[in-house]
Amino acid sequence: MTEKVVVLGSGYAGAGVIQSLQRSLDSGQAEVTWVSDVDHHLVLHESHRCIRDPDVREHVTIPVKDIKSPDVEFVQAAVTGIDCNRRVVELEDRALDYDYVLVGIGSQTAFFDIDGLEQHAHTLNCLDDALTIHDDLERALEDATPEDPAQVVVGGAGLSGIQVAGEVADFRDERDAPVEIRLIEGLDEIFPGNDESVQSALRSLLERRDVSITTGEFVDGVDQESVRTADNREYDYDVLVWTGGIAAHEEMQDAELEKSKRDLRFETDDRFQTSDERVFAVGDAAVIRQDEDEHAPPTAQAAWQAATVAGRNVARAIEDKPLKDWTHKDKGTVISVGEDAVAHDVYIIPFVSTFGGLPARILKKMIAVRWIRDLTDTPTALSAWSKM
Ligand SMILES: Cc1cc2nc3c(=O)[nH]c(=O)nc-3n(C[C@H](O)[C@H](O)[C@H](O)COP(=O)(O)OP(=O)(O)OC[C@H]3O[C@@H](n4cnc5c(N)ncnc54)[C@H](O)[C@@H]3O)c2cc1C
Repeated sequence: MTEKVVVLGSGYAGAGVIQSLQRSLDSGQAEVTWVSDVDHHLVLHESHRCIRDPDVREHVTIPVKDIKSPDVEFVQAAVTGIDCNRRVVELEDRALDYDYVLVGIGSQTAFFDIDGLEQHAHTLNCLDDALTIHDDLERALEDATPEDPAQVVVGGAGLSGIQVAGEVADFRDERDAPVEIRLIEGLDEIFPGNDESVQSALRSLLERRDVSITTGEFVDGVDQESVRTADNREYDYDVLVWTGGIAAHEEMQDAELEKSKRDLRFETDDRFQTSDERVFAVGDAAVIRQDEDEHAPPTAQAAWQAATVAGRNVARAIEDKPLKDWTHKDKGTVISVGEDAVAHDVYIIPFVSTFGGLPARILKKMIAVRWIRDLTDTPTALSAWSKM
């Protein structure tokens, strides 16, 4: 019997699962339907480049038709829910039956009920978000003067917030524009939870680029003009970007599956199965259990590694074979601050765990270009080199 497999999302998880299924399934074994609200894969971990230069968009969007094989059906639609009892994925105007569904629709920004935040802040989850931030920056510049510069505030100093602040600094410097940039982090150091060496390398790079850093202050409220922190400091803004956390998409919250208490993302075991064995989840949409109380991190790197095994596991489930478990392998991180970058735990230089300068810059470009090549071809990837 031909099984129906539905894959949701065209990010690292969704695109990775599609490629894995294409390699793992025998012809005629399953009908694969791929659903996403956009008709491309977005290289989200380089999307911040579009804040400085919107033309980067053509290099960080890869059409789904260049990723999928002809026998995979693609449906461009927003998923509005999953009914596990009826085994259907709900779309805005119809429903799709499944035997197995693989959820890879990423996450949405968490606002933690902070007063006014959702209403006034930009988020960065898709291409349109990056382009809207760019447009808002341009608008802020119209009234900015050296005496009264445009104020850009970025809330949350994880991977996204740091890279956004760095990109805004490049935007400012390329135009010699009057812009002040502030990065606010509630915890005690930027890039929280990471090694001190990478935190201080990033801090010094940001400060050298004239980004003011405020740590240990939680954002408590936002109005049309300013951000207020818990200890009652106020920072005026013209452009506010919030990258302070992730949570499950609202559309998934009614699904009758076990979810993490913290952010309602689907909990899975290390084989990507949720509490319903027909529903797999991978990437930022999932909290994937590792050893003891450990979970895989919400990164592009983890989503892609996981997707390869998750696709194979769906094929194995169809064949009634035991599923393979997966352990995340941290291959290190390279974080951009505009044109500059800091690499950590990559180990291409013997005994050096954190480095910047030209090697880190080239590495950051290589990671992006290799990624694009894996999904397309070498000429397409090389054409992106100068924009990354
Ligand atoms: C600015 C920025 C920089 C980052 N830098 C790094 C980095 O340097 N290294 C790193 O490892 N990670 C980085 N990350 C994190 C990384 O991008 C995410 O962890 C990764 O994108 C997760 O992959 P995913 O496939 O789960 O989700 P996503 O990549 O978010 O993909 C989700 C997909 O689902 C689709 N979708 C969403 N909602 C619906 C719906 N209702 N219906 C249908 N389709 C839907 C989306 O269009 C998209 O195709 C960065 C993130 C940002 C924002």
